[in-house]
Amino acid sequence: MENLPHETRDLFCPSLEEIARVLSDGMKSNFAEVKADVVDCPDLSEQPFTLACKGLGGNPKIVEVGGPPYLLPTVNREKVYDLRKIAAVVGSPSAFIIGAGAGPWPYANTNCEMAANLHLKNGETKNLTWIGKVNPDDGTNLAEQLPSDEMRHALLSNLYFSDGNPGQVLRVHCKRRTGSQDFITSIRTTLQNFYKEKPVGLGGTFLLKEGTAKHHVMPDFSSIPLNTDEELNTWLKFYNFSAPLVSVGTLVTADPGLDLRVQHFHTFSHHGEVGHYHIDTQPDSVEYLGYFTLGHSIHRIDRPVVTHQIGRD
Ligand code: ZN
Repeated sequence: MENLPHETRDLFCPSLEEIARVLSDGMKSNFAEVKADVVDCPDLSEQPFTLACKGLGGNPKIVEVGGPPYLLPTVNREKVYDLRKIAAVVGSPSAFIIGAGAGPWPYANTNCEMAANLHLKNGETKNLTWIGKVNPDDGTNLAEQLPSDEMRHALLSNLYFSDGNPGQVLRVHCKRRTGSQDFITSIRTTLQNFYKEKPVGLGGTFLLKEGTAKHHVMPDFSSIPLNTDEELNTWLKFYNFSAPLVSVGTLVTADPGLDLRVQHFHTFSHHGEVGHYHIDTQPDSVEYLGYFTLGHSIHRIDRPVVTHQIGRD
């Protein structure tokens, strides 16, 4: 792939303190206990998060690459991206990158999920990215970490770029879900109700400390076209993953005309599970702890010219 089309917009950046107040108030409609505040970022390279960098600070950018139209109704196998090239295009050749995307099928020999977690740095890149596959023999979920020099992904991704520096972050701690929205949807819709058409973008990570959660993993590419969400959901494999689970990704509260996927988080664990987060499945006992920061800009890379709304959940 030679030239990558690139569009960019500034995002609205209220103070983290204001966002914490908005979430503390608004998320009470969905969780029995909500605490949102601004703290110095804990060392996210340690357990349980095990990210490639300690913090989320410095040059924060939300990046969306490709999109579901490259997967549906039929796969476009030309859409394989190198994260080093994406990083160069967005002006962050050295960057800490976390987020959700489709894994590198040319490496895995099958379509797969990716939870990106790497620090690109001249000569000393640290790549802790996970991929999740469906075992074709028994349908179980297979998780593995990519080799350090494998920095490709396919089809689509929603990534948070930063310098990985320490600094202040938004902490969101919720227990017991009483509403119908998952953790990320609750954050996004609460902010959307307050900031209306002003686009606020968050990137970061959250821990499912207690409970289980519904995830999907893409099996190998479908030999028949998938034309509806119903056909897509029949093709996808769904799993109930168990805490502790670490998820990485982005959300945006309004689409400034870039055909965005407004939220997308992928999960990894240290007990063999990697997939796409949907929602916790034990709401009475669930506990979430998230750390996020604001993206200052959004970068849209290789946006599909012909688009649709299938597969955005
Ligand atoms: Zn996904």
